[in-house]
Amino acid sequence: MSRVHVRFAPSPTGYLHVGNARIALANWLFARHAGGRFLLRLDDTDRERSKPEYAVAIERDLGWLGLDWDEHLRQSDRLARYAEAAEALKRAGRLYPCFESEEELRAKRELRRKRGLAPVYDRAMLALTAEQRRAAEAGGKRPYWRFRLSDGAEGWDDLVLGRRQVKLAAISDPVLIRADATPLYTFTSVVDDIDTAITHVIRGEDHISNTGVQRDLFTALGASPDRIRFAHLPLLVGSDGEKLSKRLDSLSLRGLARDGVEPGAIVAYLARLGTGRDPEPMGLAALAGDFELGRFSPSPARFDMGQVLALNRRLLQVLPFAAVAERLPPGATEAFWLAVRGNLDLMSEARGWWEVVSGTIVPAEVEGEAAFLHTAEELLPAEPWTGEVWQQWTEALKAATGRKGRALFRPLRLALTGEEHGPELAMLLALMGRTRAVQRLRHAAA
Ligand code: GLU
Repeated sequence: MSRVHVRFAPSPTGYLHVGNARIALANWLFARHAGGRFLLRLDDTDRERSKPEYAVAIERDLGWLGLDWDEHLRQSDRLARYAEAAEALKRAGRLYPCFESEEELRAKRELRRKRGLAPVYDRAMLALTAEQRRAAEAGGKRPYWRFRLSDGAEGWDDLVLGRRQVKLAAISDPVLIRADATPLYTFTSVVDDIDTAITHVIRGEDHISNTGVQRDLFTALGASPDRIRFAHLPLLVGSDGEKLSKRLDSLSLRGLARDGVEPGAIVAYLARLGTGRDPEPMGLAALAGDFELGRFSPSPARFDMGQVLALNRRLLQVLPFAAVAERLPPGATEAFWLAVRGNLDLMSEARGWWEVVSGTIVPAEVEGEAAFLHTAEELLPAEPWTGEVWQQWTEALKAATGRKGRALFRPLRLALTGEEHGPELAMLLALMGRTRAVQRLRHAAA
């Protein structure tokens, strides 16, 4: 087989969400695994719904995930090519002009339903004579164009779902060209997949019936649909088993970025979602090395934000200082990062801990602990401190007060950090220094 060539083909009509990201990622990992090429194709022929700002956002969001592309194509640059392909279909009698309005079509569907027939387009316009067409056009109507589907069925061996078949008779002849002459995705996608010699189409299960239609279109355009392998990833459902599609807007990549979720956690989670393997905090290169379409289960995959956050936490625990330095508050050191990284759910929480070690937080009074905290202040070693200061201090406190465990540590933690939980106090204390520690012990004793 020729070198792997895949495409991710979003329509720039909205922002990317985790469902789109999963498809983009599967294509990217598949290409990188095979040493193939990844094309980013913007399906932007819908003039009303496509917006340049969405195209920009899509590219930015893919970049944020760490997905790069080897080629870039915009369908709006290829309108002449689609017009030419449409002419070929017309000449072959596969594209026919239609004039029915939305209301007429709706009425026909209703009628068929009442008669117990499937609401499929009845091909009435195939019988249109040249004269009738002239008359319609003279009345100011412009035709839109439908593709005459073949009889029978289209079947293929799906790389994820196994053997699949679509009965073409159960589908209405699809509109490929609108009355304003703009071509529709169903058509432009096939022209591009042929012209760019795509080897694998990896997309969501919602495209199954499109695949039946598009395979028929491949043949009509003189290409063999078997040159391309199809892989449809099952849809995502929420943790309650409900379809995720309605909630996807709230799972946009820009929203997750704003919430401070690491792109690495999202890709590591999505790469294994639906494969039965637990996600691991792995980088893109490792994920690519490990990627196989055959591992995806044919049943819906459950998207669980809790798991993404758990992975986010694990990822932060192993991120080196160099990878995060730019995003830490100004002045934050490697020692600080190493002290706090094990205790963060989200990167943004590092800011709070930076305040604890370098700012002027004022802890609340720790009730009933005034005497203990005074003793703690008195026993706090003088500077300069060594790495042992916490050890020395708490040993001395233990000896003086007889306290140990929680009774010893809880009031110190509350006084020094204002929090019940957090990074190891030994590290925090060394970072905050004696002056801050003394002030806080006094405040908490007040
Ligand atoms: N533009 C189509 C979509 O966003 C692409 C589907 C495909 O991969 O063919 O659904």
